[in-house]
Amino acid sequence: MAVQKLITVPDEILRKKSKPIEKVSINEKKLIKDLIETMYYHKGIGLAAIQLGIPKRIIVLDVQQKDEKKKPLCFINPVIKNISKEKSRYEEGCLSIPNTFIDIERPKTCDVEFIDIDGKKKNMECDGLLSTCLQHEINHLDGKLIIDFLSKLKKDLIIKKLSKTKQNTDRIVV
Ligand code: ZN
Repeated sequence: MAVQKLITVPDEILRKKSKPIEKVSINEKKLIKDLIETMYYHKGIGLAAIQLGIPKRIIVLDVQQKDEKKKPLCFINPVIKNISKEKSRYEEGCLSIPNTFIDIERPKTCDVEFIDIDGKKKNMECDGLLSTCLQHEINHLDGKLIIDFLSKLKKDLIIKKLSKTKQNTDRIVV
């Protein structure tokens, strides 16, 4: 198990559509462990494989409160089946978009169909924070980011700012 490097905006890999998993092999199991470890290391509550640069439809989540015991969840090939008309709002951040929070409204509840780490087909009803996180991560699998919820002007400003940060980080004088 190892913490992996996170891919951040404006890296175009994040816009790639991830491919479904046909069989959960040892490689996928290793990837899931890395995803969970990387998510905890960066104090995130969700992470998609594409955020490590791997275009596979795998996401991990842990929406437990800080004082609760860790409870990592893993979803392979997740598909949202039903969404509620009722909405909920959260200020969403993203490990791939540093220091950016966006107020986003999404369906409050949803059902998700997925495959678990043992390759079994499952169904789960999700509510509140879990529902929001799941939708955020599934967006990643389709190449969609939280900045896409903004106007083009605001979105371009954020990308420009993050592109500069990236340049500054790489620039060294020795
Ligand atoms: Zn994200």
